[in-house]
Amino acid sequence: MALIVQKFGGTSVANPEKIRNVARRVMKKAAAGNKMVVVLSAMAGETNRFVDLATQMQKIPDLREMDVLLSSGEQVTVALFAMAVKNEGQDAISLLGDQVKVTTDRMHAKARIMEIDGDLINHHLDQGRIVVVAGFQGVTEDGDITTLGRGGSDTTAVALAAALQADQCEIFTDVDGVYTTDPNICVKARKIDRISYDEMLELASLGAKVLDIRSVGLAKRFKVPVHVRSSFTETEGTWVVEEDNTMESMLVSGVAYNKNEATITVSRVPDTPGIASKLFTPVSDAGIVVDMIIQNTRAGDLTDMTFTVPRADYERAMKIVNEVAAEIKAESVKGSQDIAKVSIVGVGMRNHSGIATTMFNVLAREGINIHMISTSEIKVSCVIAEKYTELAVRALHDAFEMDKDNLPVEEK
Ligand code: ASP
Ligand code: MG
Repeated sequence: MALIVQKFGGTSVANPEKIRNVARRVMKKAAAGNKMVVVLSAMAGETNRFVDLATQMQKIPDLREMDVLLSSGEQVTVALFAMAVKNEGQDAISLLGDQVKVTTDRMHAKARIMEIDGDLINHHLDQGRIVVVAGFQGVTEDGDITTLGRGGSDTTAVALAAALQADQCEIFTDVDGVYTTDPNICVKARKIDRISYDEMLELASLGAKVLDIRSVGLAKRFKVPVHVRSSFTETEGTWVVEEDNTMESMLVSGVAYNKNEATITVSRVPDTPGIASKLFTPVSDAGIVVDMIIQNTRAGDLTDMTFTVPRADYERAMKIVNEVAAEIKAESVKGSQDIAKVSIVGVGMRNHSGIATTMFNVLAREGINIHMISTSEIKVSCVIAEKYTELAVRALHDAFEMDKDNLPVEEK
């Protein structure tokens, strides 16, 4: 007998028929003798609808009230799910975050889980019930409802799996796993069978949207193997697990792209101590996350700084940077929103040289100009013109033969 946590996203519980189907799927597993904990999202589109309603009341909605509102979507699905199970003659119980208790900090709308009490869930499991937990929500120590940030149900599932020491954590979604790249733009994209936590973290932060990034960090910390798979088919999905030898010998595991960033260049800044600090302190004080930063050397004692910010923060960032630029006597500030970041990711980069060069060669062959480059141990990212994103992704996918296991020749 195993203890299994299964999470179903909004598209998997989008209407009564789908809820019934998913409930039957869980009941089969329960009937086979497993203890089942189910974590649900709100029906697809509901959370967005609530956000829209809230902004009709208050331009910038009060965050405490926002959490009371947003958490209601998950309350609906867990209750309906429990009813669907009972209707078929099996026993189930729905539990909200504050009943479980999923204790969080007080950061409304992006709360972090501090502790999960497994006692109540275990009690109901021991009574033979399927336990249905509302995803995405928690409660502060003094009883206020919180939510974990958009997409937070994945985090609830992984945190529950860790707290209950579950044997399996399965995330059911509307795609059948993690792909080498976005199948919508590259027909050769291949489902990955196993991927390491670190690679998944990079792919998630670079714009692959299958799993919420915080859930991957949590899975890594507590060594929870996560199985991402489709709720509409029985096929095996992708296992997100600890790194092993086969992963290391692969050259590149995936290509990700991100069209949600913008670049800002400050030209001819005096090259003296304290300039980067003057420039970036007000930007980070405004809560704007700067990603890539490049500082060039120029002849004389002037330098250029180029960096990227989320596109949603572009106007605000430009305003702040223009103010600082005037103060530090920079010559000009220019920005562009027509850019994209394309990245290759793989733990194999630790052991194989020349991977970045291959990437540059591929982009050169396609006539794509690289504006910025950044690297980490397991990734290489290039900023290019947005209109070349699809071309770059396909060319890189081909060049690294990601449609096959791209093991280097000597290791095949
Ligand atoms: N319902 C929430 C959202 O749409 C949480 C989730 O689906 O994971 O963001
Ligand atoms: Mg989701």
